[in-house]
Amino acid sequence: MAAKLGNALLKKRGKANLLNVIPEELDNTQGTKEERLHQLWDKWYGCTRCHLSTTRDPGNDPNDIVFGEGSCEAKILVVGEGPGEEEEDGGVPFLGDSGRLLNNLMAQGTDDPETKQVLADYHKVTGMQADRKFHEYMIEWRKRDFFLINTVACRPPENRVPNATELKECWNRVWNVINILDPLLIVACGNTALAVLTKKNTAHITKQRGNIHDIEIPGRVAPIIYPVFPVFHPAYLLRKADFKIKGGDWEKSVEDWKNITKTVRFLEKHGV
Ligand code: URA
Repeated sequence: MAAKLGNALLKKRGKANLLNVIPEELDNTQGTKEERLHQLWDKWYGCTRCHLSTTRDPGNDPNDIVFGEGSCEAKILVVGEGPGEEEEDGGVPFLGDSGRLLNNLMAQGTDDPETKQVLADYHKVTGMQADRKFHEYMIEWRKRDFFLINTVACRPPENRVPNATELKECWNRVWNVINILDPLLIVACGNTALAVLTKKNTAHITKQRGNIHDIEIPGRVAPIIYPVFPVFHPAYLLRKADFKIKGGDWEKSVEDWKNITKTVRFLEKHGV
């Protein structure tokens, strides 16, 4: 019923789109959010739905996917594009260079006093040890307050953008994670995540970043609307490297992450 309703609504919107198939069914997971996420993970362990399963690093557990990581009570779900080498090795999204930049943005955007202090202390020192300490702290911190996933759970070869088939096959996992977590806000990092979440063939992150978009996710009874906050992908910001340019994309991104915190506080306050 829910799937049919979802289909009807999508048809009404008309456009042929990247994900114009509503996935089979919501997984019939039972129990707490944590138990349901574990059941979902078990179901996806060893996934062979798409070609990316054949390129999983045999040095790691070849059945293992980068399912996602974070708190089951997270109010913010962060959606990236796809795991890279470090993420595949560690089994966790956003561990590599992009992850380190993301940690910095998250720390700049938060209103958590301890994390702000950790960032301020980190800015006073340099060196590999300080870097490592800061990122270790952030990886633990973000696990408590966020949930992080990617549009695909396996590393695309040479870190290429996942193709439409791969995105479509993995959409069911993203959809079920959203359904189980029921976050207050979803952050789309970059074009791929935004296209997947808004079910469009392409996204224009440069135009759309910083503006909240409503998306419809099929629920058990009827579609559910979630706010999506698009931001620049950290890999793009690394390439652009305009960290010191006034009004540049880095500065805009810091503002975006501050606004993400403000938006969540607003949603909490108004009991949305
Ligand atoms: N690492 C991830 O986990 N996701 C990205 O999108 C990029 C790097």
